Amino acid sequence: LCTLTLHLPDEAATESLARQLAPLVSGGQTGPAGACIHLQGDLGAGKTAFTRALLRECGVTGRIKSPSYALLESYKVFNLYFYHLDFYRFSDSREWLDAGFRDLLREDAVVLIEWPERAEGLLPPPDLLISLAYADDGRDATLTAYTARGQTWLNAIVP
Ligand code: ADP
Ligand code: MG
Repeated sequence: LCTLTLHLPDEAATESLARQLAPLVSGGQTGPAGACIHLQGDLGAGKTAFTRALLRECGVTGRIKSPSYALLESYKVFNLYFYHLDFYRFSDSREWLDAGFRDLLREDAVVLIEWPERAEGLLPPPDLLISLAYADDGRDATLTAYTARGQTWLNAIVP
């Protein structure tokens, strides 16, 4: 697995990473059919902030809420669907199956998942895992590619 670690000194740096990934994830040869990013990190690490910035850059307008209560927020930009999921409140991975989300999700959508480890074993590997950790006043982001497409994205990122 290929990884890249970046220091993100402030939220603007997090937004800049999202801005770089947005066109890769949502268009061209490397997306969008089934593109998936998993986001890990403690509460407040910036998973939602990153996702919000990415969705904005992809053309989502209006309010972008954290899905921590609803579990799922969906967006549509022209013919492209985006799903933002948060499994923080899952106590049991079976809830993912019970919730019936799998049938609800389109396979050609761009999917962003916070707390994927709470649905361990039920999710396919993502194209890219972004792990965010507190580092001084900013964050360290470790990006790991699990697919050839994710690897292509990693190669395109300018630190
Ligand atoms: P999570 O979804 O991981 O629980 P949020 O995105 O809700 O976290 O909150 C992240 C918080 O950290 C926000 O207050 C945001 O302004 C801030 N933040 C985001 N990225 C950075 C960064 N690189 N450095 C410092 N603060 C950041
Ligand atoms: Mg969040």
